[in-house]
Amino acid sequence: MPRPFRCRKVFFNPQYTYFKPAGVPLSSIEEINLTLDELEAIRLSHKEELYQEEAAKKMNISRQTFGNILDSAHKKIAKFLLEGKSLRIKGGEVEIMGRKFLCMECKKEWSVTFGTMRPQRCPECDSKNVYRVQQNNDGRCLGRFRNGCGRIGGKI
Ligand SMILES: [Zn+2]
Repeated sequence: MPRPFRCRKVFFNPQYTYFKPAGVPLSSIEEINLTLDELEAIRLSHKEELYQEEAAKKMNISRQTFGNILDSAHKKIAKFLLEGKSLRIKGGEVEIMGRKFLCMECKKEWSVTFGTMRPQRCPECDSKNVYRVQQNNDGRCLGRFRNGCGRIGGKI
């Protein structure tokens, strides 16, 4: 029986998603795909500097799975750096987590992924009177994704 899929929570939605070596025509480059969960493992380990145990808990996976994801990410990045490939960040079986905001003027509610700046104004009425809706530290799921085929639900 297949094991039930455990959602990999991701608290970062990258702004830059494509990298290539300078001066090499795109058509002759092999592309490597780094998934969002792999990028998140890199970010939690090497930028947030969490222990694997903590990072795994944050992503809602076992420590062993976290180790495997991190290992896979390191190998892809090594290949990218050493072999002149290009790197695209996309996909993975993940839940993108975000924060919810509320406009006190027009009552619009909207969500922003972690890793993006706090909104200064309401996207609807341009008011500055916007507040974060308090939730637990994890925020809320903005959308679930699966490899390649894009979104399962939510908006991103
Ligand atoms: Zn508003």
